[in-house]
Amino acid sequence: MTPPVTDPPDTDALRAEARAFADSIYDGYLERALSQDFFWDIYREAAGRGYLGMRVARERGGCGASAVEAGVVLEEVARGDFNLGFCLFGAYSANRIIAEAGSDEVRERWLLPTLAGETAIGFALTELVAGSDSRNIGTRATRIEGGWRLHGHKTSSGFATFAGASIVFARTSDDPRNGITGFLVPLDSDGVRRERIPNAGFRPTGRGKLALDGVLVPDANVVGEVGRGFATVTGSFDVGRAMIALLAVGGAQRAIDMTIEFASTRETFGAPLSERQGITFPIAEHATRLEAAKQLAYHVLSSADEGRPTTKTAAMSKWFATESATNAARDMIVAHGHRGYSDELPLMQLMRDLQGLEIAEGPTQIQKMIITRELFGRSSGGRARA
Ligand SMILES: Cc1cc2nc3c(=O)[nH]c(=O)nc-3n(C[C@H](O)[C@H](O)[C@H](O)COP(=O)(O)OP(=O)(O)OC[C@H]3O[C@@H](n4cnc5c(N)ncnc54)[C@H](O)[C@@H]3O)c2cc1C
Repeated sequence: MTPPVTDPPDTDALRAEARAFADSIYDGYLERALSQDFFWDIYREAAGRGYLGMRVARERGGCGASAVEAGVVLEEVARGDFNLGFCLFGAYSANRIIAEAGSDEVRERWLLPTLAGETAIGFALTELVAGSDSRNIGTRATRIEGGWRLHGHKTSSGFATFAGASIVFARTSDDPRNGITGFLVPLDSDGVRRERIPNAGFRPTGRGKLALDGVLVPDANVVGEVGRGFATVTGSFDVGRAMIALLAVGGAQRAIDMTIEFASTRETFGAPLSERQGITFPIAEHATRLEAAKQLAYHVLSSADEGRPTTKTAAMSKWFATESATNAARDMIVAHGHRGYSDELPLMQLMRDLQGLEIAEGPTQIQKMIITRELFGRSSGGRARA
């Protein structure tokens, strides 16, 4: 096993605990990853450790952890089970939004059950007509007495097949800046239809489509202010991007660990592969990139904890880590020879999982648009989720 790359300070105990948990669930990763069933058992184990509430304040029932601490847990858990790591990412974001921007009624009904892992809350922004260009969504919410009626189609929504509710974004006016509102929509509501997307990776996490046909949502389920849906969530986008980076680092680190172990025992032409620079140098190079990716991600998270600007560095962190991770996984597959190219080992599935991170939460080009805009000024980078 490689020694852990440099840790942020004061998180050693938390990291050790999360790593022990990750090691205890790793054996089942591949079977779970190839299945479409959600793993409520390990999800609830993570809940029992307080991991779903890391980003929720103590007075609301969470752990009140810093972004750095939450990142450490997510990175380690991803090393044991990539998909559980992704679920932590989703829980960090949705549970924090509900805790901070949900009404009393919504918090009472949803927050404690989601923190306990009894149910989960998804996030439904993307549509067929609007992904990166998310301000162009077509889902509409029409005002009625005491609430809203939602019509539209969402796609690529995380947890769609098993979540109890989803934070759905819909257009409440044609105001180009303040026309989109978030709604907490229970997914057993009349008029909601769910459909699973046949996923290459992330299979147990239930990415799917939601059809909303006149779904009635009470006023209490508006998340944040009407028309300010993006303002409610954009604060979490930067932290989310660095979390995705750590998810990528954790997953790819597992592939590197496996390859070091394999290369140390597999002999060709009378010597172990670990004596061949053709094998060890690519490992050294990928380990270097992952270390850099990790340090950048923690820099973003500690800056966020200290209230410093993170837009540029979060976008840098996201594209660099996810691309580095997929490249690492691909080379680790080749380093395993024919064994790597099958679902007998977890490497192929890990690569399919990791590649999704290059798209989720804003693809690489969108991150580069954000960086460009930060470097050159607003007129240059176009619009993007930030
Ligand atoms: C694993 C996974 C999980 C996801 N989970 C969720 C979720 O929980 N909730 C949710 O709402 N969405 C989710 N998504 C959707 C994700 O947010 C979108 O896929 C993403 O925002 C990109 O939108 P799109 O797929 O429509 O691509 P498009 O916007 O159609 O872009 C297609 C390609 O063109 C590039 N591109 C777009 N515009 C430009 C430009 N101006 N210049 C250069 N290149 C450009 C993009 O980078 C991309 O490579 C998930 C996606 C994945 C893969």
